[in-house]
Amino acid sequence: MSNYKIKLSKIKAFAFDVDGVFTDGTVLATETGDLLRSHNAKDGFAVRKAIIQGFPVAIITGGASESIVKRFALIGMDRNDIYLKSNYKIPDFIDFCERHKLQPDEVLFMGDDIPDIGVLKLCGLATCPADAVSEVKEISEYISLYPGGKGCVRDVIEQTLKIHNKWNTDPETYSG
Ligand SMILES: [Mg+2]
Repeated sequence: MSNYKIKLSKIKAFAFDVDGVFTDGTVLATETGDLLRSHNAKDGFAVRKAIIQGFPVAIITGGASESIVKRFALIGMDRNDIYLKSNYKIPDFIDFCERHKLQPDEVLFMGDDIPDIGVLKLCGLATCPADAVSEVKEISEYISLYPGGKGCVRDVIEQTLKIHNKWNTDPETYSG
C-alpha cells in the first residue's frame, strides 16, 4: 500500500476550509451585506455520510456568515465543529482535535490558500483542491483532481470511507 493509502487508513476525522474548497471561491455580495456562496450537493452528501459513519467533520473558515452555519448544520454537522472568523486556524484545529479526543495526525484537512498552510502542516493528511494556490499544492500530500466547489470534498471523504469499508451505497442507510 502506498504511503498515501496508509495515511488514509489512519484517518478518523475531517476538517475543511470553506471558500475555494466547498465553493469555487466566488462570493456574491448582496445589497443587504449578506454574502452568498454556492455549494455542491455531492460534497454535502459525503459530509453527511462521514458523520453518520462516526467520522467527526469540522469547518474552519475565515468566513463569518450565519448561512455557513445553517448550511452545515442542515447536513448534520455539530455547531461546535463549525469555526467561523478563523483567521489563524491552528488553535481552532487543535480545539476540534481535543474535543473529539483525536491526535492531529488522525485528521485529514483540506484547504486551498495561504491561511490554511499552518493546519496543512499539522494535520495527518494534507489535501487540496486541483485549483489551490501553488504554496498549498507544494505542501499537500494529495491534490484532488477536482477543483473547489466541484467535488474535491467528496473525493477525499469517499476515498477515506472506502478504505475503511464504510462507503455504504445502500440508499436506505442515508435517508432522513
Ligand atoms: Mg479558502
